[in-house]
Amino acid sequence: MKVLITGGAGFLGSHLVDRLIADGHNVIVFDNLLTGRIDNVAHHLGTETFKFVKQDVTEYLFVAGPLDAVVHFASPASPIDYLQLPIQTLKVGSLGTHKALGLAREKGARFLLASTSETYGDPQVHPQPEDYWGHVNPVGPRGVYDEAKRFAEAMTMAYHRYHGLDTRIARIFNTFGGRMRPNDGRVVSNFIVQALAGSPLTVYGEGAQTRSFCYVSDLIEGIVRLLMCDDLCHSKPVPETEPSDDVHLPVNIGNPSEFTVIELANMVRALTNSKSPIEFNPLPVDDPRVRQPDITRAKRLLGWQPRVPLEEGLTKAIQYFRDLASGGGTECI
Ligand code: UDP
Repeated sequence: MKVLITGGAGFLGSHLVDRLIADGHNVIVFDNLLTGRIDNVAHHLGTETFKFVKQDVTEYLFVAGPLDAVVHFASPASPIDYLQLPIQTLKVGSLGTHKALGLAREKGARFLLASTSETYGDPQVHPQPEDYWGHVNPVGPRGVYDEAKRFAEAMTMAYHRYHGLDTRIARIFNTFGGRMRPNDGRVVSNFIVQALAGSPLTVYGEGAQTRSFCYVSDLIEGIVRLLMCDDLCHSKPVPETEPSDDVHLPVNIGNPSEFTVIELANMVRALTNSKSPIEFNPLPVDDPRVRQPDITRAKRLLGWQPRVPLEEGLTKAIQYFRDLASGGGTECI
């Protein structure tokens, strides 16, 4: 297949590039390097199966020749990034999604949207199944990301329903691993970097809020299965008693093992043998109190579930950040 990945120089996008190239596909990356880094894909530059184009995907997109799939990963995704880049975040979720869908339609290509658990906002249903409509503050600071992604989902479904485009929507829950930027601002990278430096671990609020953390290799496996599966991708026929699945509707991809932020802080301190104290800071506005994916649908549709426990994933991520701090080679998935 020939696959265009927008945001392919970002944390998740670049891991998807690696996986698709390893599987024998050709990949083109469009990325404006606003939060992505060329280093993430530098090992593919100059190879026959890879092409990088520095491109803002909110502008008109042109690709010569055929394309089999367009995968739209471009967006700031860390809260501190999208709070600093509110207009760009809204534009890439709206205009960027429209442009990426238009390109997919022009090429007759399959389209996959990287959506988010943030579409559920501060959820009042727990864990969150895909048919929960969410609890989002559209005018709060996080609204720029949440509403952009909700619009992106609506636009994707419209292209599917009105233009017959073959579309997929992955709702990605908190994911971590190598290639997160040390100053990315998300909780896993913050805590590891702080613990390794011996500085205080910055817990927001009382740390009683929960998240469910997925290691990057599990996430990428789920995305690839969703991208590659055909319309009827059940591994076995669905019995009469079970709901039939429409592969075009959103699918949660995440790890259902749920932890409080304090539990995560203590786990990172233990795994790094760090004596860093815990420092309590104000809770950001509209910070979701709980989050846990219901992955029943992904299991049924894709035969997928995460394999890497938090402790194992954290150990790999800690090694990544150690290597990064010592200027050494850093490959981990
Ligand atoms: N958080 C924290 N300390 C940090 C960074 C984040 O306590 O240094 C908290 C944050 O308030 C949230 C959770 O950790 O409750 C996850 O934050 P993150 O930015 O990783 O992602 P989110 O799930 O909020 O998008």
